[in-house]
Amino acid sequence: MVAPKNEPENSSGKAAKAAASDFIRDIIDEDLRSGRNGNRVHTRFPPEPNGYLHIGHAKSICLNFGIARDYNGKCNLRFDDTNPAKEDQEYIDSIKQDVQWLGFDWEGREFYASDYFEQLYRWAEQLIQKGKAYVCDLTGDEVRQYRGTLKEPGRESPFRNRSVEENLDLFRRMRAGEFPDGARTLRAKIDMAHPNLNMRDPVMYRILRATHHRTGDRWCIYAMYDWAHGQSDSIEKITHSICTLEFEDHRPLYEWFIRELGIPAPRQIEFARLNLTYTVMSKRKLLELVKGGFVKGWDDPRMPTLSGLRRRGYTPESIREFARMIGVTKSNSTVDFAALEYCLRQDLNKRAPRRMAVLRPLKVVIDNYPEGKSEELDCVNNPEDAAAGTRRVPFSKTLYIEQDDFREEPPPKFFRLSPGREVRLRYAYFVKCVGVVKDPVTGTVTEVHCTYDPATRGGDSPDGRKVKATLHWVAAGHAVPVEARLYENLFLTPDPDDVPEGKDYKDNLNPRSLEVLAPCYVEPSLKSAKPGEKFQFERLGYFCADRDSTPERTVFNRTVTLQDAWAKIEKKQRPA
Ligand code: ATP
Ligand code: MG
Repeated sequence: MVAPKNEPENSSGKAAKAAASDFIRDIIDEDLRSGRNGNRVHTRFPPEPNGYLHIGHAKSICLNFGIARDYNGKCNLRFDDTNPAKEDQEYIDSIKQDVQWLGFDWEGREFYASDYFEQLYRWAEQLIQKGKAYVCDLTGDEVRQYRGTLKEPGRESPFRNRSVEENLDLFRRMRAGEFPDGARTLRAKIDMAHPNLNMRDPVMYRILRATHHRTGDRWCIYAMYDWAHGQSDSIEKITHSICTLEFEDHRPLYEWFIRELGIPAPRQIEFARLNLTYTVMSKRKLLELVKGGFVKGWDDPRMPTLSGLRRRGYTPESIREFARMIGVTKSNSTVDFAALEYCLRQDLNKRAPRRMAVLRPLKVVIDNYPEGKSEELDCVNNPEDAAAGTRRVPFSKTLYIEQDDFREEPPPKFFRLSPGREVRLRYAYFVKCVGVVKDPVTGTVTEVHCTYDPATRGGDSPDGRKVKATLHWVAAGHAVPVEARLYENLFLTPDPDDVPEGKDYKDNLNPRSLEVLAPCYVEPSLKSAKPGEKFQFERLGYFCADRDSTPERTVFNRTVTLQDAWAKIEKKQRPA
């Protein structure tokens, strides 16, 4: 197992365990003490390949692979591919890429529930032979009606007491394709009056003619999740089968199948799924956003998918730290999206090189700077990392600054550039505004004229003169035009699913979630930025070069702004 960077190496396992403790690790510790699995810890991450992974899956990946790492155990990657109608190789490939990107290694243990179809079938026959399963001819609707409710017991299917011979014969003919889709099911024979609805003769197999992405047309009966999952765990000798809370009510069934078959028994443990504000996490909805063209694809930088977050500029380290910070609990809750951004800023602050870029350019002419001259000024690459050194950035008579950094009539508390006011251009000079040029038609300022003080080279005044603002800038003749894509939350409301009657989550989509700016101007060193490279644009946020970049024009995604809402919230919440 490869320990992800920035995390305690696992030599003894002790340090990492002390760092991460939670109720699941407590259960594992207890199992190790009691010798339940002969010292083994073996988990699995079991995605259904019916969509791309999202940040909620990352929580599960970090948990399952993290436990394997901390206990010198193993974690399998298992594709839970029992629903051919919705699954696809594209999803398998993306899932593998995302798990690796997050920093985890399944060490070749890549398994598929579909590899177990034959074994599952044989076990089903075994249950029939024991009188613990039967072929039922009720329709789906009828099965539901017969099931009863939480208050009322269910009714037994009229087919429940078929003989073993008849059940075997019918089940084999189901497999052989003698009956149409949906005509019959195989059901476990448990207890139609059981207080837990999952125990009221649950369906194990349905007839479904669909081409499976791995088994082709070999099967026309497919196992239901509950039948496939626990038995797959058992085949792989999983010790701890960790799943989300919805499966708590399925645990008695999970244990019933294993007990009736007399096969190795994993322990199922449930934890609370991750919910995040301002986004949706259901794969069905994410698929709908992709298919409906509400976003540009699974890896649209606004998506909560791992591929979207990666493209946006998120690092695996920040996501692992987020997973560590939120921990695992037994009660469902919603985490503030700002907490994820906080982890990202912490990480990028340490390693993203600083650069200067102007998103909404306003031309500045330095009247007393010689025409045709340019000079190279030293700029610090990262004040958080002395080893990152400095670089040289050209300065010249004509520059760009942000439109927002100039006001002809400054409101109170606006300390940036305005007529008569002096400010610092970062790493360059003090400049003072001496005039403006306006568009004669619209009256908007198109050009700002300044003078500079040559004695302030590097941005320090020898006479101790103070200025109240430091602006970023780029030299117009040297700057490189680029496209910048700025993002807001994909949804307008913290809980997009909270909608009035007749509306749905899509009505909460934020129409301003993407803003494209071009041309923006960046310092020349950014010309060679490769897709995936990350920078802090001074005062503007963290940016990541996008794969849409062409040799002619680099495209940058704003990963996250610099403003740190979460730090403020946290500060407020900290006890005095
Ligand atoms: P959906 O219900 O949207 O289809 P799913 O939970 O069924 O998603 P799977 O591919 O079956 O998706 O999930 C693989 C693993 O990831 C499961 O063990 C599941 O419990 C876990 N998982 C999925 N979503 C979350 C989440 N939001 N938080 C934590 N774990 C999750
Ligand atoms: Mg699932």
